[in-house]
Amino acid sequence: MARSSIVGAWQKISKIGTCFSSLGIDLLGLFVRKVGLGNKTRFWLDVWLGQFALKDLFPKLYSLELFKDCLVCDRVMVNDLGEIKTIWAWSRGSLSAETHLDIEDLQEMVILYSFHSGKNDSWSWRGGALGIFSVQDLRRVMASKIYEEIYTTPCIWEGWIPIKVNCFVWRLLLNRIPVAVNLLARGLVSISWSCTFCSLSDESSDHVFLDCVRAKQVWRAVSLWCGWDLTALGSIEQLLEEASHSSSHLRKRILKAIIYSSIWSIWKQRNAKTFSGRAFNTEFVLEEIKTNLYGWIKHRSPHKEIIWQDWIVSPLDCILA
Ligand SMILES: [Zn+2]
Repeated sequence: MARSSIVGAWQKISKIGTCFSSLGIDLLGLFVRKVGLGNKTRFWLDVWLGQFALKDLFPKLYSLELFKDCLVCDRVMVNDLGEIKTIWAWSRGSLSAETHLDIEDLQEMVILYSFHSGKNDSWSWRGGALGIFSVQDLRRVMASKIYEEIYTTPCIWEGWIPIKVNCFVWRLLLNRIPVAVNLLARGLVSISWSCTFCSLSDESSDHVFLDCVRAKQVWRAVSLWCGWDLTALGSIEQLLEEASHSSSHLRKRILKAIIYSSIWSIWKQRNAKTFSGRAFNTEFVLEEIKTNLYGWIKHRSPHKEIIWQDWIVSPLDCILA
């Protein structure tokens, strides 16, 4: 029997989706999959862990998958403590080093996902504040700029950056990363907690990535390194927007990559502090941002000739010169 995650009302919505596409509206794109038990969502084929289906994000892994239409619950186990384990079924015994890296990336993405434990998989509507579909909201989406906003903001995919980091930034822009305030709002925890770095504010995305004194230290250090002021802007969207106004396409890509790498390192630090109690050190974070990005650009962009000694002095000059 073919497994499908779109049932009942959603099947009808998916059918009328074609009518909407003629109006320039991707109706299905206005829904986000929320995975709980994982028994109604196909691991590789449905869009649940990012902006695209995993078969498209990891085509090599998908070609090695033994059961192409397996469900999330076939590949991911979440125990009572919320610990997440992946279970793979590859068609080949020995895998290349590159494949292992892809598996690590994918594993990390799965671990970052906030599963709605104990609940059935469901859809969440992005066209309204409550996450519940209504015809009224749909009318509003069609009549107003909401659709445009949803689709112009996260045009974020950056080929130089690992998939897991692209997905993380995408989730951050949708305010769907597992910080305390979000988990509380979604009923996944019963009490909130304050910022793991400073304890002075609730742990929200804006606080962790922008307003916290630790985040500010990181952005200041990164600004000094790249010679571009990243400290004065009020949101991640604004940062990316600023980068997109750069004088050249290449400069834009470098700045965007620097922002992504910084966001990723702040998040890794937040996790290291929260789960292992590791002390925060701006120098260490900056070093990690430089090292990660150097590796990504060296392996994922055409600029393989970059030299570490030049890179650490000025990333823009190193590539643009
Ligand atoms: Zn803080």
